[in-house]
This record gives sequence, C-alpha cells and structure tokens, in this order.
Amino acid sequence: MRSLLEVNDIGLYCPQADVYIDPWRRAERALITHAHSDHARQGHGLYMAHKHSEGILKHRLGNIRLENVEYGQKIYMNGVEISFHPAGHILGSAQVRLEYKGEVVVVSGDYKITPDGVSAPFEPVKCHTFITESTFGLPIYDWKPDRTEFDALQRWWKHNAEEGICSVVFGYSLGKAQRILRNLDLTQGPVYAHGAIIEIHKAMAHTGIEFPECLPVDKSIPKENFRKALVIAPPAADTENWLRQFVPFKTAVCSGWMALRGTRRRQNAHKGFAISDHADWKGLLYAIESSEAGNILITHGYSDTLARYLREKGMQAEVLNTLYTGDAANENTEADETVH
Ligand SMILES: [Zn+2]
Repeated sequence: MRSLLEVNDIGLYCPQADVYIDPWRRAERALITHAHSDHARQGHGLYMAHKHSEGILKHRLGNIRLENVEYGQKIYMNGVEISFHPAGHILGSAQVRLEYKGEVVVVSGDYKITPDGVSAPFEPVKCHTFITESTFGLPIYDWKPDRTEFDALQRWWKHNAEEGICSVVFGYSLGKAQRILRNLDLTQGPVYAHGAIIEIHKAMAHTGIEFPECLPVDKSIPKENFRKALVIAPPAADTENWLRQFVPFKTAVCSGWMALRGTRRRQNAHKGFAISDHADWKGLLYAIESSEAGNILITHGYSDTLARYLREKGMQAEVLNTLYTGDAANENTEADETVH
C-alpha cells in the first residue's frame, strides 16, 4: 500500500487525498498548519486552515481562496478523514491529523506545550506516525516558566523607566508580540508598537480575541514621550535608523534562542528573555510520547540529534527533510513589513 504521507518536490503530500500540508511550492490544495511564512506560502489554488488564521493569511497572502476549518471538524477527501487540532504555537495554529483505513498520521506544524493565554492550548493526538518539528530539539533548551521571564522583562522596563530610558523589546509580530502584551502590567507606562504589529492586530480582529491597545510609533512623536515607554517591535526593525527616534534607549530580545548566552551576545541586545512559541526539549519529548506513535519523523530544527536520541531509547525515528525553517524564516518575512 502507498504510504499515507510522502515528501516530494512540492511538499508533504497525501496521495490518497491529493492534498499537501504546508507545501513549499505551488499546490492545488494546501492544508495550512499556521500563518507563519515558512508554512503558509504564496500561490496555492486552495488553502484550508483554522478559522483564526484567516485574517493573518489574507493580510500576508492577499486575496487567496480559503476555507476555514474548526478544531476537531472532520473533512473527507477521497476517503481520507482530515482534522485540525490545537498546536498551541500561535493563534489559529493546528496539528493536522489524517486517517485512512485505520492508519493515522499527525503533522505537528510548529507547536508549544505550555498554554500562552492567546492560542488554543496544545492537545496531544494519538497516531501511528507523528511528524514533529524540532526547532529547539536539544536538551539545553529547557524553558523557565513564562511568568519568570515576563516578570524579569517587567523589572527591566521599570528600571529603564526610572532612569528615563526607553525600553525597546523585539519579538515576532505574530505570536510573541501578543504574549508580551498579555503578560505585562501595562499600567506601568505608555506602550507603543511598531506598525507591523498594529497591522497584525487589525488582521486578528475577526477572531474576537482582543489585545491591549498600543500607541503607534510615529516619527513625529517627541523623544520625551518614549522616556518611560515600552516599545514592541519585530526583529527586522532592529536598525540604527529606526532606533534613533527613541534615544536614549535599551533593547531586549524575546526569543527561545536567548536561552544561550552566546546568542544573546551576537544579537547585540542589552538583554535577552528566553520566551519561545516552540516546545523546548522536554516539550518535544512530551508530545512524542503522548502521541503514542510507533514511528516518529522529524522535520526542521535539531532533527539529527532528536532522531538519534529517540532511536537510542528504542523508538523508530528518522529525519524528514523539508523546507521549513522554524523561527528564521519569519524574521525574513517581517523584513518586508518593516519600518515606518
Ligand atoms: Zn511557526
């Protein structure tokens, strides 16, 4: 029997249903796990995605043909039962489950285990084959509780404000920015956001999920207004030219990569907070175990290390080469959305 899912030049393909999942080249029909740019690309004939992705997908990809799907809703394509399940990564993110003649495959997309108060929390889905990401698939990635990192971010902002220094924090406009807004005490001072983030919030309005209002950054705003402020911006805005309007300022980066000191230094930020939209090492192992899958296929990230580790534990695990890139690609896209 043909395999339920295979990889070809276009992407992850289910021949029986004649549908792709997050294809990297043009496909007739694409199931989209989430709206980040390495998973939701231009040019497909039909997109199917969780309904909370609609605004973002249209904001980023224009007037696409899109069918909205609810979590748990069953769709049938040539006998294959397809359903979307919460991945906890960003608003609207989903794992895709496919079942045909008793065989079940789950494609994780990107995911994180701990609830973030914005996206629907990750739900383990039992299957025979689990295709998992591995962006942070090394044991050194071991997230502290979110609260610890957000409290540290709050203290950093407070300290800067007391010195009359603007706090500029970089995080992805889709995912991280909303978590920062949800988790800080915003009564501490004025909160500004880069235009790309304000656009994302407009694109999310249809979901009914609201985020605290931010003031738009505008070159006409006097520097004094920023002295006690927090400014939230995507990583691509981290340029001398854009930052000049906030002088004096300090910068911080919110990213899982900040867990490592060396990365923090290379990014040149004053401060790093290890807050990620991806599972850490323990989170990946939790998802793999709770899938109860006998066969694990590992995509983007530290796939070799994770596959080796699982094989040493007696599991069947292999690397699956794809063109997903985890965090890096989103940064590139956001370069297009910069800087006003
Ligand atoms: Zn993603």
